[in-house]
Amino acid sequence: MTVIDTDYLVVGAGAAGMAFVDSLVAESDADVVLVDRRHGPGGHWNDAYPFVRLHQPSAFYGVNSRVLGNNAIDEVGRNAGLYERATAGEICDYYDAVLEEHLIPTGQVRFFGMSDYLGEAAGEHQFVSRLTGTTTTVNVRRKVIDATYFETSIPANHTPSFDVDVDAQMIPVNDLVSLSGPASGYTIIGSGKTAMDACIWLLDNGVDPGTIRWIRPREAWLLDRAFQQPLQLLTSLIEGLARTLDATAHAESVEDLFRRVEACGQLVRLDPTVEPTMYRCATVSDNEVESLRLIENVVRQGRVIHIGTDQIKLEHGTVATDRRHVHVDCSAAGLRTEPDRPMFEPGRITLQQTRTCQPAFNAALIAYIEASRDDDADKNRLCPPNRYPDTATDWIRGSLLSYRAQAAWYAEPDVTAWMEASRLDAARGINDHLDDPLMLSALGRYAENFEPAMATLDKLLPQSA
Ligand SMILES: Cc1cc2nc3c(=O)[nH]c(=O)nc-3n(C[C@H](O)[C@H](O)[C@H](O)COP(=O)(O)OP(=O)(O)OC[C@H]3O[C@@H](n4cnc5c(N)ncnc54)[C@H](O)[C@@H]3O)c2cc1C
Repeated sequence: MTVIDTDYLVVGAGAAGMAFVDSLVAESDADVVLVDRRHGPGGHWNDAYPFVRLHQPSAFYGVNSRVLGNNAIDEVGRNAGLYERATAGEICDYYDAVLEEHLIPTGQVRFFGMSDYLGEAAGEHQFVSRLTGTTTTVNVRRKVIDATYFETSIPANHTPSFDVDVDAQMIPVNDLVSLSGPASGYTIIGSGKTAMDACIWLLDNGVDPGTIRWIRPREAWLLDRAFQQPLQLLTSLIEGLARTLDATAHAESVEDLFRRVEACGQLVRLDPTVEPTMYRCATVSDNEVESLRLIENVVRQGRVIHIGTDQIKLEHGTVATDRRHVHVDCSAAGLRTEPDRPMFEPGRITLQQTRTCQPAFNAALIAYIEASRDDDADKNRLCPPNRYPDTATDWIRGSLLSYRAQAAWYAEPDVTAWMEASRLDAARGINDHLDDPLMLSALGRYAENFEPAMATLDKLLPQSA
């Protein structure tokens, strides 16, 4: 058994753990031990499907100390006119470089890959190597950081909730690229972004939309990527927020709220005739929505229970299939919805969201707050937990907490300065656009509608539970 000492033991080297460590090292001289059961950093991106890309621009993903990609705007393709989005390969290379070329050379960070954290017993923390079986005991002088609380569930490593006959063809989305011959048809299983990516990939590779069937147990509200743009295109992001606040301020009921936010282009759905019951922060472009609407064979009979060789059994019915039909599992939860717990507790930090669905930004901010303040109550005031949304009405709670937290940050000059310098803050750089009348108009409407919108969200929150 080996024994080591450190200030912070960080469990999980995914996007959250990496952004936290990078920010902590920038703000303090703390010693850090970073542990992950995977061989390297990057978390679920190491096992992502080959054609995945970030939903959002690379420009505000990753860690603070290093740019991901080139901050370029795509000129061609489905993302033309919007900031580039990294592939999984680019993301994994990026995290390797952050670790090898920045964090380790600081002398403050030691990384233990292929190591399972076993937990705490009698004040001692332990992890065990998956390769040698060696157990390491860690004496933690300050805190353990749980960067696994929202560990991402993906098709490559989850167990589907349905059974499949041995002679039926069912593959995780990762294996679509390994198919060696045409199928009689493709059934995509899942309502989320992974399912959308699978459909788009099939369409982009020449598959006739008529041969794609999409099992969508739930309909989702989606975000329009054109309004999630930073840097040179920041005015569009602020315009989106201004429209959302204006719509929210005037809403009279939960139903009216969603109608208004949709009417101003800030929530999008694939099928305007079906009321969404799901919201998971998935982001799409107009162009993707247009293509996805070409798939008309949408099955809304609940979740899959069983895939046989001639029929698929669902919660509310059956549909025919055959042995040459390929069924594609896109049903992993992705974002996990664990209950909120205090971000800061004695001896422990649990990395969660505060700004809705921004895991990298939140983790970096939490490290800054940890390094710059002493009192846990004050730290928790600035970083209230805001669990990942799941149902459509979770949009209300997530937005309310996010806007309120943001107002609290802007009331603290040092936090405002930190955010302005943080590449992970999508909204930084507003002052560079103050000569743009569109930005001034958006900022005016944002300010005018902020408090009325918060009052509406407060009022509607109990009705949305
Ligand atoms: C297809 C897809 C696209 C996405 N696109 C975006 C996007 O554009 N923007 C965005 O903000 N988010 C996006 N997300 C959300 C994504 O989940 C986050 O961006 C982020 O990658 C999550 O990082 P994480 O560190 O919380 O979790 P993970 O990546 O799951 O990392 C957790 C790590 O903890 C390790 N671990 C767990 N338990 C232990 C243990 N006991 N011992 C040791 N190690 C342990 C795991 O091995 C893992 O490496 C996307 C998600 C998916 C699935």
